[in-house]
Order: sequence, then structure tokens, then C-alpha cells
Amino acid sequence: MIRFEQVSKVYPDGTTAVDDLSFEVAEGELVTLVGPSGCGKTTTMMMVNRLIEPSGGRILMAGEDISRIDPVKLRRRIGYVIQQVGLFPHRTILDNTATVPFLTGWKKQKARARAAELLDLVGLDPSVYGSRYPEQLSGGQRQRVGVARALAADPPVLLMDEPFGAVDPVVRERLQDEFLSLQATVRKTVLLVTHDMEEAVRMGDRIAVYGQGRIEQLDTPAAVLGAPATPYVAQFVGADRGLKRLSVTAIEPDDLEEPPIARIGEPVAAAAARLRAEDARWAVVLGERGELHGWVSAEDLHLAGEEGTVGDLARRMDAWVPVGAPLKHAFSEMLQWDAGWVAVLDGARLVGVLTPVKLHEALRRSVDADVKGVPRDEVQFDSVADA
Ligand code: ADP
Ligand code: MG
Repeated sequence: MIRFEQVSKVYPDGTTAVDDLSFEVAEGELVTLVGPSGCGKTTTMMMVNRLIEPSGGRILMAGEDISRIDPVKLRRRIGYVIQQVGLFPHRTILDNTATVPFLTGWKKQKARARAAELLDLVGLDPSVYGSRYPEQLSGGQRQRVGVARALAADPPVLLMDEPFGAVDPVVRERLQDEFLSLQATVRKTVLLVTHDMEEAVRMGDRIAVYGQGRIEQLDTPAAVLGAPATPYVAQFVGADRGLKRLSVTAIEPDDLEEPPIARIGEPVAAAAARLRAEDARWAVVLGERGELHGWVSAEDLHLAGEEGTVGDLARRMDAWVPVGAPLKHAFSEMLQWDAGWVAVLDGARLVGVLTPVKLHEALRRSVDADVKGVPRDEVQFDSVADA
């Protein structure tokens, strides 16, 4: 959808901001550009809407060379969200949101109706906020208006330059989540600039890690964290990249162990004998249809003697996660409940259990498979144990 072909930008004072950049963003994809201040992220972005013209190379949008598109028309196809938001102070929130539809000649009523829809979409009730002025909103709310305004004319492409940089961390996280669920519906092609690796990991389908004026690596969050292409990338993503990877690596059925099982209606004596034979200290208790009911310890079963069924002794299973959840959720459940293992469920059905050993193996295995490109002694492996 957006294609950079050997794009460079040298400013008149001789600063090379972008150096021979080639990459492509697919339709509906969200690519984060991350890197330290001054590495050329904003320059890259502003060349897409032609607020800055490249010194070399070309940029294609849906196959069309953008240097041949009238800049005003081009910008109507591109929503632009910046940190300072840039709302007009003397216009209402509704009219601020309707800016682009107004400019493109929509009837006032239609433009305002559209703006109200968008405010709703970003979680601002238009009947409450529509008639307010920018200064009557919090920073986070203004940022939402910025997103609504960028989406108002329904452009296929969205450029976001540090969009959540000016709000506090709690609000930032909420805005990130809101935007991700919005993006799941609207599926824009998005370039999002940030200097924050965590934001890049959270938001990006892929991450472009910038060095000075060039992309050092462009890949999925898991790949960038698991296999930094260069020592620079390894350093930039941080010594805690192992922990970050826990957040982007999904639990797979192969990672799981099959736990000892007891059935809810099973007589205590039978279950006790079976656990003894299996040398198991505990069992997961399942209901009639394989749904998780709880767990039971071998000791409880022995102490209960000959009477009753497993269901009478089952304890609540607090530590569980859905299959496909990040490893980090499982790890955090283990810590929260001080549990030696975590049940992994598909709906209510038990798929298996994740133990610390298996969790560590899952992380370690992918690290071992990943070291291509980076000299081994340059890579610092983090593990759960180091955390
Ligand atoms: P980032 O967004 O990653 O912080 P920028 O794209 O804003 O980086 O800047 C990249 C480099 O280009 C920096 O060294 C910056 O000082 C320089 N630069 C940006 N704008 C101009 C300009 N108008 N004239 C000269 N140098 C500039
Ligand atoms: Mg910038």
C-alpha cells in the first residue's frame, strides 16, 4: 500500500535525515517506526504526505508515485495524527472533528453527522463533548479528538507521529488499547512513530527499528525481540527484551504438559490409587464435558479415606489463561497465585497445563533458533530466571 523505494532526504544544511530507505507497508497493516530522537522517523512520515519532499528515490501509494499526485488531494487520502494534536481553539470539538469533510466540500449537516459518529467511535459522547472547546478537554480526550478528526474523511492511510507521547502512562495505555480495537475494525494502513520500544511492541504488526537515517530491522515484534538483526538493535530493544518477549510470544499447545486428571464424579479411593500409581502429587479435576472444575491434591485424597467423590474435595483453580494468550499472562498468573502451574483453557475446556520449566523451555527454544545475524557473544539472553 505504501512503498518506499531508495528514498533519501538531505536537508539544505547537509543533514542526511533519511538514507536510501526501501520498505513496504501492506494494506491494513500497522507498522511502528521506532528509534532514538533525531534518527529520521518524522522526516520519513512527512515525506508520505508531502509536507517534506525527498531528495532521492520515490514513494508509491497503492502503486501510484505520490510525487505525481496533487499534495492537497494526496493529504485527503491520509489521516495525520500528531502529538500536539493541533485542534483549532475557537472551534467546537464537533467542528474540529469535521475539519476535513468541511474542506472537501461536504454539506455542514452531513459533515457534522459524520464527526459525531467518529467521536462516538473514539469513546467521546458527541452530545456531551461535541459542543465543547479544546481547552475544556483533558489531554487524553484531545488526543482522541485528534484520532477522530484524522479518520473523519475515511482515508485509507493513517500517519501517527508520537500520537500518545504527551499523555501520562496510564492514559497512554488506555489510548493504545482503544486505538488497537478501533484499528481492528477500520483496518487502516498505519505508520506510527514512537521512540518508546514498549509502544512499538504493543502497537505494531511489524516494527521498523531505526538507526541513523536507516532501518536496521523490520520484522514482527516477536522476531525483533527474539532475533535482533544487529548489535545496535539488540541494544536498542533493551536488556529486558526477554521479558518483553513474554508479552509477544503466544502459548502454543506444544508448550503444554498433560496433567494428571481426576473426574468430578470419580470415587475418592479410585482417584487416590490412580494418582499413587502415577506418582502424581496433584490432579486437575474435570467436569462431565472436560471443562475445568478445579484441582485436587493427592494428600487431600488420602486424608479423605474411602468416602465421597473427587468433586467434594476439589479446590478452586485460580491460575488459568486462555490458549493463545501471551506467555507473560501465564507467568503473571503463576506469580499472583503462587502457583506451580497454570491451566490453559480453550473456552472452558482444559487443553493442558503450563509449568515454569515448560515456560522457560518455550522461551529458550525460540532464542536458540533465533540467533541468526547476531554474533553469539553480542547477544544477551534473558530468561525468566533472570527476571
Ligand atoms: P525523529 O523524528 O526521528 O526525531 P527527524 O526526522 O525529526 O527525527 O530528524 C532527523 C534529522 O534531521 C535530525 O538530525 C534533525 O535534526 C534533522 N532535521 C529535521 N528537520 C530538519 C530541517 N528542517 N533542517 C535541517 N535538519 C533537520
Ligand atoms: Mg520526530
